[in-house]
Amino acid sequence: MPDPTADRANLLRADRKTVWHAFTQMAEYEPFVIERAYGCTLVDLDGREYLDGTSSLWCNLHGHRHPRLDAALRAQLDQVAHTTNLGASNPTTIRLAQRLVKLSPAGLNHVFFSDDGATAVEVALKLAFQYWRQRPDPRPDKTAYLAFDAAYHGDTLGSVSVGGVERFHAMFRPLLFDVIRAPAPDAYRLPAGVSATDACSHYLVELERLLAAHHERLAAVVIEPLVQCAAGMLMHPPGFLSGVRWLATKYDVLLVADEVAVGFGRTGKLFACEHEQVSPDLLCLAKGLTGGYLPMAATLATTELWQAFLGRYDESKTFFHGHTYGGNPLGAAVALASLDVFTEEHTLERVAKRADQLAARLAKIAEHVHVGSVRQRGLIAGIELVRDRASSTPYDWTEKRGHRVCDAARERGVLLRPLGNVVVLMPPLAISEAELERICDAVGHGIEVATCEG
Ligand code: PMP
Repeated sequence: MPDPTADRANLLRADRKTVWHAFTQMAEYEPFVIERAYGCTLVDLDGREYLDGTSSLWCNLHGHRHPRLDAALRAQLDQVAHTTNLGASNPTTIRLAQRLVKLSPAGLNHVFFSDDGATAVEVALKLAFQYWRQRPDPRPDKTAYLAFDAAYHGDTLGSVSVGGVERFHAMFRPLLFDVIRAPAPDAYRLPAGVSATDACSHYLVELERLLAAHHERLAAVVIEPLVQCAAGMLMHPPGFLSGVRWLATKYDVLLVADEVAVGFGRTGKLFACEHEQVSPDLLCLAKGLTGGYLPMAATLATTELWQAFLGRYDESKTFFHGHTYGGNPLGAAVALASLDVFTEEHTLERVAKRADQLAARLAKIAEHVHVGSVRQRGLIAGIELVRDRASSTPYDWTEKRGHRVCDAARERGVLLRPLGNVVVLMPPLAISEAELERICDAVGHGIEVATCEG
């Protein structure tokens, strides 16, 4: 019989030496191996348990090993695991497309499947570009994009081009296309002379200035609706999204809504755009689409866009873009089951209750002398640590204060991942009242530990 301890040691060694982890300095990496899970709990190789405080990177919705989702996957396995969607289809994938069209904001009637958030955005960028060349009244000069400071849309080169997170993206600048950059509405660090009440109009005026100057060459505005998550849970003021929609229409520029992180109930509604009755021209979905089970993404488009791609084959209007696993039936099966669970378990009502509970806990955390800002939308929260509250002076990023909070929380059985000095809370939508209390207790403890010296 194999020695289980030897196996454990081998796994850890191979994890350190062979696996190249994402967004991880491998010279400093300490192996941390999750072997199994149940509900909102992850279990490591040694049997230690952790609450999944960031939903295994913002994607798990209904908990792990949900019986309904597991059964849907097994049933699909009895049919077929994968078929190509290049010139062919599958009943489960067709049903998912129909369901997404029904549930998403009005006007989005066509679904292009791919496999991750970044690819959903790449597809949107290329569809927008090609649309302007092929529509009945072509506008081939519309080849540029407008995106926001500190935006994050994924790690492929197109999505990095529209991204604006200095620490992640600066390295690749020589490879990227130029983007018109608008200031990101940051309620915590407003420019001098701008108050919280006029923040929305201030940023819309800035945006309009850019659109007025560049609309002739702009194909699309790309936005993360309501919350710029990777920017540190930066929350836009109410009315900003609908203002952006209005301006995009006024200047004849497409609106791409990247709901990869905020979609599927996170903000309290199924899609963030619903909060401001906004219908984008292109909608990017991934992460929560499969309840956090499998890589799958979708880019939804309007009929106007779709029609610009129709024609005889020799007219070359085809969208020559695709991913091997686009529309994968296993992903589609679990996505359909996840949408069923929203109804069966009244998920959005639960989110409203948990969001109120979280707000009450965050109000207490906000009193801490090293907490500069707490921000929340539904079950998305960011707690920004600062060296000095009065002047909003940040901690130097090399001090890894956010990481220190998470290390201390892990000791208390809660798994989190920070964004610089911002501690992120993004628990599964199925988190229970008691579990959320434990997460908040661990965060409070972590903040004490991480800020007690220096
Ligand atoms: N868009 C947004 C708004 C995101 O937050 C992310 C990932 N965090 C992505 C796109 C990229 O998604 P993926 O990692 O699945 O490629």
